[in-house]
Amino acid sequence: MADVELTGHALFRSGYLVDGEWRNLSETFDVVNPATGDVIAQVAKAGRSETEAAIEAATRAFPAWRAQTAKARSEILNRWYQLMIENKAWLARLMTSEQGKPLKEAAGEIDYAASFIQWFAEQAKRVNGEIIPPAQPGSRILATREPVGVVAAITPWNFPMAMLTRKLGPALAAGCTGVIKPANNTPLSAFALLALAQQAGVPDGVLNAVAGNTAEISDAIMASHAVRKISFTGSTEVGKTLMRNAANTVKKVSLELGGNAPYIVFDDACLDAAVNGAIANKFRNAGQVCVSANRFFIQDGIYDRFVNKLAEAVKSLKVGNGAQEGVVVGPLIEPAAVKKVQQHVDDALNKGARALTGGKPHALGGNFWQPTVLIDVRDDMLLTQEETFGPVAACLRFHTEEEAIARANATPYGLAAYFYTQNLQRVFRVSSRLESGMIGVNACSVSTELAPFGGMKESGLGREGSVLGLDEFLEVKTLHLGGL
Ligand code: NAD
Repeated sequence: MADVELTGHALFRSGYLVDGEWRNLSETFDVVNPATGDVIAQVAKAGRSETEAAIEAATRAFPAWRAQTAKARSEILNRWYQLMIENKAWLARLMTSEQGKPLKEAAGEIDYAASFIQWFAEQAKRVNGEIIPPAQPGSRILATREPVGVVAAITPWNFPMAMLTRKLGPALAAGCTGVIKPANNTPLSAFALLALAQQAGVPDGVLNAVAGNTAEISDAIMASHAVRKISFTGSTEVGKTLMRNAANTVKKVSLELGGNAPYIVFDDACLDAAVNGAIANKFRNAGQVCVSANRFFIQDGIYDRFVNKLAEAVKSLKVGNGAQEGVVVGPLIEPAAVKKVQQHVDDALNKGARALTGGKPHALGGNFWQPTVLIDVRDDMLLTQEETFGPVAACLRFHTEEEAIARANATPYGLAAYFYTQNLQRVFRVSSRLESGMIGVNACSVSTELAPFGGMKESGLGREGSVLGLDEFLEVKTLHLGGL
């Protein structure tokens, strides 16, 4: 995209947002296109004082926003949803420019992101309370659900719009106001969404946004008594820090953290479904997905057929700039990500794994990595111990169901797990024992606004989407009435 198509567009924002006003700063940071290395924008580098101003604006806006009827908030959310869909083509090009994923995937993410706004526009009208039978005659007990207050939403770069709307949909529906801190690699997607929220009628001060000096922004948020809730999506390491820091002011915390998803293929699986699922699951967003399979456990009887068929399919995946037609695997987000993938693959190869295809940086150079299938991978390699976040399918062999379950669970993470089998008893037996918040059975996707999304163990706390997503932004207040 020519620069002017990007930076000259009516939805382009590079400042920080407080009280409905986009403000600039003399200090900026660069946003880089991961496919080309070009600087696509310079964004205001906000820090402590800008964040404090954003929190104050959200605090001032809270009483009026919570006082609106749920129906009025729902109508605004519905308009926001419509505007996202109407502007999908441009938003997708913006996202591809700063995040790298192929255009088709970017457009898919916008549909997915918008679906949370639409879903919570409906749920806004269903924040019902309870009437509880009292213990004493002449009394009543009522439990109501109320917005928690000012919320801070901190989001990662891999799904720069969807990770934000999964939080803002329920937060606004509940009547909360907030401060948004998108990742510094991808602030433009988040800011464009907020520009649309303004167009949709979200009042000034309800949503405020800062990016730039992460440490100062984080300190200001965590020190604030006004911020009552942190909703974070990102790495487990940062999630743990935020959880510790939230203790000082006893903020509510929701955490969507890292994963180390097992993908188990039993001998009785449909081979084609298992291979197609593996491609869709592992190579989407160049493998930079929290619910991406990180360990492919393949049973003896199907192992050779599965890995060979997978490698053949992987060889045909077209790598390149996501803005180009036909590209299905884009670049990794930045040089540090390439370094991590290289370190994990080298460690595996040095310890005896073999590459059926790939295994090296791509000839395109820069942030591109060859789609890779590794076999003879073991449980003690970096690839299987840590989240690799790259287009690398690590294949491990197993013998029995019992063994597959034990090895799948042998990780501190518990976000997503997948398995392929055509045995109905096994479906229930295995899914009941896998320690994961979400399980795909003969299904490679677990992401929809309709169902709870979230992890067990060190993959997080709380759930997004579904009817549960709203509860994360609500407090229960109990009213005891006497003398009736
Ligand atoms: P990250 O933890 O480095 O950053 C996430 C966000 O937190 C960014 O906005 C970043 O600027 C901010 N941040 C970093 N340090 C901070 C601190 N000390 N205080 C406050 N904020 C801080 O993660 P990332 O590299 O952007 O994203 C990739 C990670 O996110 C992966 O681990 C992935 O699995 C996880 N993720 C999880 C989900 C989920 O739903 N469970 C979804 C997407 C990504």
